[in-house]
Amino acid sequence: MIVLMRRGAETYEIQSVFDRLVENGFQVKAVSDHGKSILSAIRPGQRQSPDEVDQVRSLPMVEDVIVLEQPYELVALESRGHRSVIEVDGVKVGGPEIVVMAGPCTVESEEQVMSTAAAVKAAGATVLRGGAYKPSTSPYSFQGLGEGGLQILRAAADAHALRVVTEVMDVRKVDLVCQFADILQIGTRNMQNYDLLREVGRVRKPVLLKRGMSARYDEWLLAAEYIALGGNEQIILCERGIRTFESETRNTLDLAAIPVLRSLTHLPIIVDPSQGTGNRDLVGPMSMAAIAAGADGLIIEVHPHPESALKDGPQSLTFPQFSQLMPNLARIAESVDRCLSQ
Ligand code: PEP
Ligand code: MN
Repeated sequence: MIVLMRRGAETYEIQSVFDRLVENGFQVKAVSDHGKSILSAIRPGQRQSPDEVDQVRSLPMVEDVIVLEQPYELVALESRGHRSVIEVDGVKVGGPEIVVMAGPCTVESEEQVMSTAAAVKAAGATVLRGGAYKPSTSPYSFQGLGEGGLQILRAAADAHALRVVTEVMDVRKVDLVCQFADILQIGTRNMQNYDLLREVGRVRKPVLLKRGMSARYDEWLLAAEYIALGGNEQIILCERGIRTFESETRNTLDLAAIPVLRSLTHLPIIVDPSQGTGNRDLVGPMSMAAIAAGADGLIIEVHPHPESALKDGPQSLTFPQFSQLMPNLARIAESVDRCLSQ
């Protein structure tokens, strides 16, 4: 619940309400908004009863109590009152700057990742993406290089002052992936793998939570709530397209998710136009549209030779295509009073 204190409430009066909530098992955060104090009170796993709400409402200097309607609490916008900024080794996701993450779908070789890291860095990306553990619909397709792939990613990122985002699929691999990655990616197929969500909630690394391909916004935010409940609130949401009846594109990229989620959650949201469309010709237009709609960043697939990529070649940009796109993204960012992260 959100407790609004009356204007002019003295510090000891605010403290007394704060202490009362803590005594009743709530985690309380105090913020000040235009001279008014607001207490956000959450009791994980046990929502407040109507009687409790009435009791708090009748405390001295309490103006009102708002009970959140959403089933999630920690990730709800009201619980914080301001947007979260997730810091990844100096790169801030969710602030005024738009973060571009780029790299191959899959780590194939040292040479492939090194050359891609150099190219995306030169074009202005700040985070290197790449999969070492690949979730594949077919068990016959390439499953990734595993730990060797993680080592390649880390070395390439360090050589070019980039951060690493890479997927973790297995609860048993979370600690290992943490040794190499700056951001743990939870893929679309695992958005509802609750054991995995709990496990990444336990670690202290930012998590990129992709939207399940058939997930509604509330289901996606509840998945984020699982992570937050473990104590890890460094969560970045990623819209990556959903399944619809349309077959012309690989998925239907739901850009309405951006303004809707900005109204529901304090978490930053980025967009993956590569999985979202499955077609490199659509990556540029959808990237620009995502920034115009308020996205905090993009994750884009780039490959030195998309025609021979082991995975997702048709949706991967070439180096020249990526470097031509970046100035266009900077222009759109400027038009919405933002800029690209350097
Ligand atoms: C990917 O980023 O390459 C990927 C497999 O993503 P998703 O989980 O969104 O399909
Ligand atoms: Mn991919």
